[in-house]
Amino acid sequence: MKPFAYSRSLEAVAAVRQVAGDPAAKFIAGGTNLLDLMKSGVELPDRLVDVARLPLAEITSLPGGGVRIGAMARNSATANHPLIRENYPVLTQAFLAGASPQLRNMATIGGNLMQRTRCPYFYDPAMSCNKREPGAGCSALDGFNRMHAILGASEQCIAVHPSDMCVALAALDAVVRVQGPEGEREIPFAEFHRLPGDTPKQDTNLRHGELIAAVDLPTLAFAKRSHYLKVRDRASYEFALVSVAALLDAEDGRIREARIALGGVAHKPWRAREAEKILKDAQANEETYRQAAEAALSEARGFKHNTFKIELAKRAIVRALVTAGGAAA
Ligand SMILES: Cc1cc2nc3c(=O)[nH]c(=O)nc-3n(C[C@H](O)[C@H](O)[C@H](O)COP(=O)(O)OP(=O)(O)OC[C@H]3O[C@@H](n4cnc5c(N)ncnc54)[C@H](O)[C@@H]3O)c2cc1C
Ligand code: SF4
Repeated sequence: MKPFAYSRSLEAVAAVRQVAGDPAAKFIAGGTNLLDLMKSGVELPDRLVDVARLPLAEITSLPGGGVRIGAMARNSATANHPLIRENYPVLTQAFLAGASPQLRNMATIGGNLMQRTRCPYFYDPAMSCNKREPGAGCSALDGFNRMHAILGASEQCIAVHPSDMCVALAALDAVVRVQGPEGEREIPFAEFHRLPGDTPKQDTNLRHGELIAAVDLPTLAFAKRSHYLKVRDRASYEFALVSVAALLDAEDGRIREARIALGGVAHKPWRAREAEKILKDAQANEETYRQAAEAALSEARGFKHNTFKIELAKRAIVRALVTAGGAAA
């Protein structure tokens, strides 16, 4: 492993200054993703600034409604917090579907937002990868691409975003609060992660030196009627083949509003807005859900080993809506 300097920061302003002033510096929080990447030689920072003990781990109600989750809150603490359990069950379910209890105890909200793809070619410096080394080529295009994207991919990269939490946050229209050298700014969740295009190296729109300070969840009464469905090869400790965060606001068999976000299908959590349009004001039944699922996947394109994901995603959408609808009844 390449040698690196390490310091622990107890103040956000100082942490931002240290990383912003050094292009080879990185924040480290739980370390559950970054250390693996450093050990395999994919990430090579000269300096780590440990932000895990910054006083940014609280989960609180916002004065105007909604909930703020501090970026250093651990995944397990967030999943089990009463404000989250009661108001945003889709988020609790997404957390509990991810990783293992030990990893969830270490992993932070900020680190989860920034975790990198699980494309195996990205983790292996012996293989060509445009995300690791722009211009090198993409080994997954003609390689084993069973876990890869079916929506929003480019000729440069067909990797998927691995987070479960982020799929729920996409459906909830969360806002990411960021502290940078020039002050604070807010990033709407839909604008936080990027599609690969011709710059697959960049996963997010966060600038170097910007620290994620918190994630805000809006007040959303019908988020109580929500469901996170994760389809994977093993029942636990496995990344999603396909996942669905579904929220359904329905009464007397009629849908007022629905939200659908998909995981395991694209370089970023994928909001299925066409499907949501079909569901609005429609009858809450499986026929409507299937129409919505067809719309959600209408632009999908599979590669050699992953075309099965298209039908899988459609069925997962229907099942997630049926379950969320059960909660709405
Ligand atoms: C075996 C295994 C299985 C897993 N399974 C799943 C799964 O099924 N589902 C799932 O969703 N996840 C899964 N994970 C991923 C896990 O959730 C992430 O590793 C974790 O969320 C990362 O959080 P961390 O705090 O440890 O981040 P770190 O590893 O410390 O950091 C990750 C990245 O985030 C940056 N960073 C950290 N905090 C901040 C901040 N506040 N502001 C700006 N940048 C920051 C770091 O610089 C680094 O680039 C798995 C991980 C492992 C190792
Ligand atoms: S899919 Fe993306 S991450 Fe995977 S090898 Fe291709 S460029 Fe790299």
